[in-house]
Amino acid sequence: MSQWQQILHTQSEHSPPRLSIEEASILYDEANLTELMHVASIHRRLRVPGNHVTYLVDRNVNYTNVCTINCHFCSFYRPPGHPESYLQTVDQISERFAELEDIGGSRVLMQGGVHPELELEWYTSIIHELRLRHPSIDLDCFSPIEIEGISEICGLSTEQVLRELQEAGMHGLPGGGAEMLVDDVRLDISPKKGSAENWLRVMREAQNLGLTTSATNVIGFGETNLHRLEHLHKIRTLQDETLSKGLKGFTSFIAWPVMLENNSFGKRGRGTNRYTLGAGSNEYLRHVAISRIFFDNIYHIQASWPTMGMKVAQMALFAGADDIGSTMMEENVVSSSGTSKMQASERELQSVVSRAGFIPVKRDSDYNLLDTILIEEELFSPPPSQPN
Ligand code: SF4
Repeated sequence: MSQWQQILHTQSEHSPPRLSIEEASILYDEANLTELMHVASIHRRLRVPGNHVTYLVDRNVNYTNVCTINCHFCSFYRPPGHPESYLQTVDQISERFAELEDIGGSRVLMQGGVHPELELEWYTSIIHELRLRHPSIDLDCFSPIEIEGISEICGLSTEQVLRELQEAGMHGLPGGGAEMLVDDVRLDISPKKGSAENWLRVMREAQNLGLTTSATNVIGFGETNLHRLEHLHKIRTLQDETLSKGLKGFTSFIAWPVMLENNSFGKRGRGTNRYTLGAGSNEYLRHVAISRIFFDNIYHIQASWPTMGMKVAQMALFAGADDIGSTMMEENVVSSSGTSKMQASERELQSVVSRAGFIPVKRDSDYNLLDTILIEEELFSPPPSQPN
């Protein structure tokens, strides 16, 4: 039996030991993908028993595209003063919330760029007002780099900024901006974004305050497999630390490949580099499967349909993912980089899950199950007869 087979055999046991970085590296380099996905599915059922796959009805609100961080892979931002730059008003944002309420949504993901002029009061007052107008909507807002930007402007610590935002009504801090938590990679793709430790510190502060948090990972920058595993290891270590305090930690982990259109990073992918950047479905599914086996302390692994498409997202459900993500009404950030479809209806997500052989279940931002909708019967029954 080869080393990778031995590792997968051990990981198939009833109570598998924690996967080490060295073992994960062997799986990355050598394991057969089908067998890797099979073992990841076993781990999925250890942590999330049953045959259901969750989804979230939410929308994105990108309140501003003004940003001074200039990440090389970002096609969304505009520098201050650019003719295409914008900043939305509370009424404009509120209209979008109302649209979400109309379709039974429960969460808004509100993110923008690092705006150089907005004071903390702008953020707290807008959150406070939105909570008053839309009390049924969870507000998951900003990302660690935006929190750092606000901190620099107002002169308070990031922990104090988070506390003020939470008091105003913020429910969670999404895990955007992690990309690759390896400083050499960060310096190459996003030199102004700050160190991996900054992202982890702000997340730690958010978790200590009880805010809902998630972990993300972007692959395909030309990093090594060991870089990816360093990223996973840093997240697993912070999760251990947070759980040991009796706190909830990251609700979920989601990875996706960098998008290469309309940004300066994508230009590196020309010529001989054409096939070395980004990630195809084989590589993506391998990463999902290894993440599922590696994270013995994070319950939920999301499939990324917006970047990989619905078919590959369905396959990710056989590689350890137990969540198909969200409806993402009006996503603007990743879609600026060339993905063709960045919005799905609830019905479509239900259909995608059901046709893969799972039971779609609507959830909220904290992964509380909201209802169960069995639609296989409807999908697979013959169509009603048509009038002549
Ligand atoms: S990814 Fe975020 S921080 Fe980076 S340039 Fe785009 S908006 Fe700014």
